[in-house]
Amino acid sequence: MCGIVGYCGHQQAEDVIIEGLRRLEYRGYDSAGLAVVADGSLHWAKKSGKLANLGEELEAHPLPSSTQGIGHTRWATHGAPTDANAHPHVSADGKVAVVHNGIIENFVSLRAELTAEGVTFTSDTDTEVAAHLLAREVAAGATLTQAMQRVARRLAGAFTLVAVSADEPDVVVAARRNSPLVVGLGEGENFLASDVAAFIEHTREALELGQDQVVTITPGSVTVTDFEGKPSEARPYHVDWDLSAAEKQGFDWFMRKEIFEQPKAVADTLLGRWSDRGDLFLDEVRISPEELRRINKIVIVACGSAFYAGMVAKYAIEHWTRIACEVELASEFRYRDPIIDPMTLAITISQSGETADTLMAIRHAREQGAKVIAICNTNGATIPRESDAVIYTHAGPEIGVASTKGFLTQVVACYLLGLYLAQVRGMKYGDEIRALMDELESMPAKIRGCWTGSSRSTGWPARWPAMRMRCSSWAATSATRWPWRGR
Ligand code: GLU
Repeated sequence: MCGIVGYCGHQQAEDVIIEGLRRLEYRGYDSAGLAVVADGSLHWAKKSGKLANLGEELEAHPLPSSTQGIGHTRWATHGAPTDANAHPHVSADGKVAVVHNGIIENFVSLRAELTAEGVTFTSDTDTEVAAHLLAREVAAGATLTQAMQRVARRLAGAFTLVAVSADEPDVVVAARRNSPLVVGLGEGENFLASDVAAFIEHTREALELGQDQVVTITPGSVTVTDFEGKPSEARPYHVDWDLSAAEKQGFDWFMRKEIFEQPKAVADTLLGRWSDRGDLFLDEVRISPEELRRINKIVIVACGSAFYAGMVAKYAIEHWTRIACEVELASEFRYRDPIIDPMTLAITISQSGETADTLMAIRHAREQGAKVIAICNTNGATIPRESDAVIYTHAGPEIGVASTKGFLTQVVACYLLGLYLAQVRGMKYGDEIRALMDELESMPAKIRGCWTGSSRSTGWPARWPAMRMRCSSWAATSATRWPWRGR
């Protein structure tokens, strides 16, 4: 869930956007793209992989000159990191382009509605519904701002959406709910971005948007409304951080920033797991209930912090499912000839999805006939690809060496899986599972309560910069001395 940039002004939009995306690279990403409006049409380019790939694409197929555009670096949540799934997504009529950070929780039903109307989808993302919904409103006569207000009202989940329309020169429109977006206020130009690092070279005057707001920028104006279209307030502020502090959103260390991101990471990992039928639903677990009912042993295989997440999860999984559960270090697993058969379920946990020992353990478990479910934070990585099923933790990139939000979301994903197994195997009644889900869903507020002293929502993440604190030098030295990755 990574970087977003929008620009409207007098400079070349492509240059401002690419530079802004570069400034947001620290957030991690798997694909990048941008769209501009020129002479009443949309032009766009997108590529999986690093910004350099997008740069090569733009050299091979240059976009026309334009002063209005949107850009995106993607951390895939729905659909593999491919060119087709990279953002922007463009409506079927070629009129509206949109970029999105976050998760549209109700995209399955919206996609079904649009498909029934004859819309053909060209990606596997949750985002594409937004492009078609916006275009439908625009075709019916709405301005892009009105279209965004109407569409935002229909979306559930966490989203920052930024869009341009071929028919509206000099206008970029965005909406936000539970996902970051700031406005940069320039002279004859305005900016939108996931964080100020993207535009700090151009302006230090910013607007902090509130929850459920729509913002429309032109070169000379910024208009903020709520989702109903009523005028709304946004807080102006002056950015006094330097670029490196801006990347850390005012925190001294990435690790500290990531600690404070835990409420959102947990909430995102829980998003969209409860079905309209009133039961727990793990879309990505494509192992049949019959097969899950046959399981008589669970083995959790992981390395490092993920191994500790497994040790925590074991207690809950055994308690809820009454299936014996072992936790194994992936590096030992295949060498000690573990007792694995087709009635074993192996759960592997890996933040990166590339941990070599865990990958070898999966291969070994599958050779013995076991089913494998991966818990992973990186869409399309090797471990989920080689597993029978996957549950993604939606923690976003973790740059700090010691795992914080990554670890916590691994525990949450294991709990979801434990509850799902209990449901499938009839070990818990529906109301018991709902009660446990309510407990899990109350966690983000409780975590915030650890540092605010209350479990009430505090308008997070708008308060982050105010929470700036010094980290001990111990964290600094440990990060530089042992820079290993690949948990
Ligand atoms: N959910 C969207 C996708 O998978 C956006 C991911 C992001 O925030 O980068 O494409």
